[in-house]
Amino acid sequence: MITKLKSKINVPFFDYPSVFKEYENELACIFNDVCSKGAYILQEELSSFEKNLAHYSKCKYALGVANGTDALIIALRAAGVKPGDEVVFCTHTYVATAAAIHFVGAIPIPVECGSDHMIDVTKIEQVITSKTTAIMPTQLNGRCCDMDPIMDLCKKRDLLLIEDAAQALGATYKGQYAGTFGAAGTISFYPAKTLGCFGDGGAILTNDDDMYQKMFELRDHGRNQDGDVVSWGLNSRLDNLQAAILDFKLNHYDEFVRKRRNIASLYHGNLSGIKELILPPQPDEGDRFDVFQNYEIEAERRDELKDYLKQNNVGTIIQWAGKCVHQFENLNISGNFPFSEKMISQSLLLPMFPTLTDEQVFKVIELVKEFYQ
Ligand SMILES: *Cc1c(COP(=O)(O)O)cnc(C)c1O
Repeated sequence: MITKLKSKINVPFFDYPSVFKEYENELACIFNDVCSKGAYILQEELSSFEKNLAHYSKCKYALGVANGTDALIIALRAAGVKPGDEVVFCTHTYVATAAAIHFVGAIPIPVECGSDHMIDVTKIEQVITSKTTAIMPTQLNGRCCDMDPIMDLCKKRDLLLIEDAAQALGATYKGQYAGTFGAAGTISFYPAKTLGCFGDGGAILTNDDDMYQKMFELRDHGRNQDGDVVSWGLNSRLDNLQAAILDFKLNHYDEFVRKRRNIASLYHGNLSGIKELILPPQPDEGDRFDVFQNYEIEAERRDELKDYLKQNNVGTIIQWAGKCVHQFENLNISGNFPFSEKMISQSLLLPMFPTLTDEQVFKVIELVKEFYQ
């Protein structure tokens, strides 16, 4: 049985063509429709998507921007983070989180991650100084951080909260959606994200009228709703064509999430007995609803496991070159984060995408079991 599975099925880490093939006809119609109208920039498809995205996340506004990194930069600027300010983030995140802080002229201040792979909330307060103006937690792997203590701390120390929710559209904490806890939260539509487009794209969520207005101007050359230039701005618009595609895919988003959670359940149910592995929490644990952007395990003999899977045509990923942000020496963000470093040295992402079949998932499971036998 195992040998048969092993020989036949290929399991890519992420199947990029399948996200197009799955809805090829519908997507072709959208392309045809939008391009025939010549509706390329800031047209009704974008407004429609923004409205639906805000509605989906139960917040007042969503604003489409060029990518998830610009989303962070625009959110930080609109919130008033200035050069020289210190902004706290978790070192176990994509480098873009820290880069956004850097590019508004502020100083990225890393914090250790906890056993849930998210910012260790017990370690935040000790890095807060008189220069700290914001905390920017990453809602990593499609899961929310422990938001109550973070929000309490922001209130107590009068700090802004900006969420990097690039990976967490639809994830909730005590029923509240990722990206809606603070001044703003950002989403990425990079193709492999839970809601991916066919190129780069991003969005910012906010409930704050003033933030929305500033971000609206910042993403389009400082122009207000009348087209008048009222501030300095960027060109960071979400393409109307991508917005039309995203609006269509948003209608199917709950189904994508359901499939991801189902895959996570299969991994959990079948791998939780292996003592050499630490798995993420199961889909329904505690106060959180996870959308499983990634299935990140900690594995003993991680590199050997990865090679073994690769030899058997299963793709996995060691993310971010196997480093946390403070470990990229040229970025000059140093710090002593033993937990994060140990964790990332054992971290491996297993295949996780909605078009993954049960047969493929079981091939991964059988091989992992076989490796540790
Ligand atoms: C993907 C991602 C980003 C950046 O998004 P882009 O759209 O690629 O610019 C930022 N932070 C995290 C945690 C991400 O996963």
